[in-house]
Amino acid sequence: MQAASPSPHTPPPPRPHTDAVERLFVPLMMGTSVVGGLTHLAFIFLFASAGVRLLAIVNVASVLVYLLAWMLLRARHTVPALLLVGTEVVCHAALASWLIGWDSGYYYYLMLTIPVVIVSQLPGAWKTAMVLLVGMLHVAIDFMLRGAVPVAVVSPQMITGLYYFNLVTTLAILTFLVASYFRMVTKADARLRQIAETDPLTRLLNRRSILDLAQGYARRGEPQREALSLILGDVDHFKAVNDNHGHEAGDSVLLAVSAALLAELRDEDRLARWGGEEFLILLPSIGLEQAAAVAERLRQRVAAVEVVLPTGQRLSPSMTFGIAAMRPGEPLDAAIARADAALYAGKRAGRNRVEQAAA
Ligand code: GH3
Ligand code: MG
Ligand code: MG
Repeated sequence: MQAASPSPHTPPPPRPHTDAVERLFVPLMMGTSVVGGLTHLAFIFLFASAGVRLLAIVNVASVLVYLLAWMLLRARHTVPALLLVGTEVVCHAALASWLIGWDSGYYYYLMLTIPVVIVSQLPGAWKTAMVLLVGMLHVAIDFMLRGAVPVAVVSPQMITGLYYFNLVTTLAILTFLVASYFRMVTKADARLRQIAETDPLTRLLNRRSILDLAQGYARRGEPQREALSLILGDVDHFKAVNDNHGHEAGDSVLLAVSAALLAELRDEDRLARWGGEEFLILLPSIGLEQAAAVAERLRQRVAAVEVVLPTGQRLSPSMTFGIAAMRPGEPLDAAIARADAALYAGKRAGRNRVEQAAA
């Protein structure tokens, strides 16, 4: 038996964290830039009409910053975009709090920079530094401006309106960020799990995951264990396929054989790529006699497979199968070893056949 060797045609495994962060972070930040740009555009008119000219001008600068950030993100310059947006948020919050007063609630936006920095692709030391910086700035601005007399005079109604607008916007952005990050983590987890449990060529379960499953079935219902049969199948003369037609032809045969086996099995059966051209099948609730009938159907199905190569040549693979039914109290390894011994007896007896281990 040999371990599954990845084919040279299989792409290298993806880097799930970095990829997932990049895939989610860039559109998320681009969306944030659009929303940020539009909000600040509205603020230009609001402050111009309220006579707070400086804040109107600051908002023009903010709109330009978000436009630039959007363009940087489109070109995948995520770090400069992040720094730019972060600086804008901090400066804008400080300036607005100083000009129209702490009660306008602009400080809420400062907190939003922390989750964004932490989940970004910045190096760890940068993240720590930026989170500390933002935290200290927040405390400093709070200390200096809470209770200070605003520079510009704005009506109390407008301050109240701005306060609730800023509060609701912050809550909405926070919810959106957390929901997006949760989705990203869930997706990355599912991808990692899939990579860990399956064989990249055939997408079948790999050796480790079927062993885990088999251990679970084997333990189920002990001491009066439920019936469980194992079939170990091996493609006949597979080395010759690789030697005569190339590795890619070998891979095509493996794919065709996997599909044939899968098509013949019940939903509750489990099929795995056990090694190079070996497959292990778990048949829950099935005894030796029935397993022999299943294996015979599998043998016939595989024998009927025809693989047409790009050269037009046709290959007709066959498989030999060894079956074993688990004995009461028998360790899983021992049952697999019996199926393996039966398989090799089948090979010696001429291949393309089903051989049973003793009950
Ligand atoms: P037998 O009938 O006795 O089973 O003979 P065989 O040629 O099938 O057996 P052998 O164990 O000598 O050869 C298995 C070959 O499978 C050797 C190895 O290069 C090939 N192989 C293993 N993994 C892969 C794979 O992922 N793709 C391809 N194309 N070949 C693989
Ligand atoms: Mg073989
Ligand atoms: Mg083999």
